[in-house]
Amino acid sequence: MSQHEKWHETLHDGFGQYFTVDKQLYRDKTEHQDLVIFENSAFGRVMALDGVVQTTERDEFIYHEMLTHVPLFAHGDARSVLIIGGGDGGMLREVARHPGVEKITMVEIDAGVVNFCRQYLPSHSNGAYDDPRFTLVIDDGVNFVSQTEQKFDVIISDCTDPIGPGESLFTSDFYAGCQRCLNEDGIFVAQNGVCFLQQDEAVNSHRRLSPYFSDVTFYQAAVPTYYGGIMTFAWASNNALLRQLPTETLKARCQETDIRCRYYTPDIHQASFALPQYLLDALSAE
Ligand code: SAM
Repeated sequence: MSQHEKWHETLHDGFGQYFTVDKQLYRDKTEHQDLVIFENSAFGRVMALDGVVQTTERDEFIYHEMLTHVPLFAHGDARSVLIIGGGDGGMLREVARHPGVEKITMVEIDAGVVNFCRQYLPSHSNGAYDDPRFTLVIDDGVNFVSQTEQKFDVIISDCTDPIGPGESLFTSDFYAGCQRCLNEDGIFVAQNGVCFLQQDEAVNSHRRLSPYFSDVTFYQAAVPTYYGGIMTFAWASNNALLRQLPTETLKARCQETDIRCRYYTPDIHQASFALPQYLLDALSAE
């Protein structure tokens, strides 16, 4: 792409966002996806896969903090964490901030994303790929959760949208596999799209998760480059109390770890489970 050319996202028909490309840093088809990384004056370095924005330097912290610290502070004693996808390394960086976590496994289908993000988006992983607790597995996430003998306290599905390789991570088989490799009182969370524009994805996830988990809902945050309103994060566990902790408990756990965030706070944690009526209506109609 030439300088100042406009890169248009192709996630939705008839509606979208664009970025001016100040400098293209990398573009190639990996084994699985069309990967591009470019510089943009408003959001810094931007990475997209198959025409869909995955992450930007400027607003990635919102998404990575909310998909990491909400389940980890809710759990309170997570030792083993599984990240599905997450090739840009931002989720790994946030999980690695928790001193009580002893083992972090990341199952990423595309080694190219890891390699090129380590090189072109170094602030995302911020050295976390060298954390001694970390293990990288290159595989389809649904294969791993269906076959592993390992058990986890928290599973974070940080995948692309349910098109292309990401589709398998929104299936009943995947959710059944996650349920089988979660410890008791384990928590599953997943990026589930912008519900105003991708409402069916939230409804489908809710329906497909419910046979395997007794407490299935969503929480939310607005991430500017996941445009169109709030992004919903799927939440599933077999202990509803994990979602009903007093704010004081969350504050105490936050203080114990000395983790200071740019978006996440215990109050935001609690408030993020409040969902718009249109989504509640769509979920109850199921
Ligand atoms: N923050 C982004 C979002 O919300 O759309 C996701 C970012 S991360 C780059 C998405 C990662 O999921 C990519 O690295 C992609 O290669 C990986 N991925 C897609 N399908 C996968 C699968 N079936 N198994 C494991 N990783 C997968």
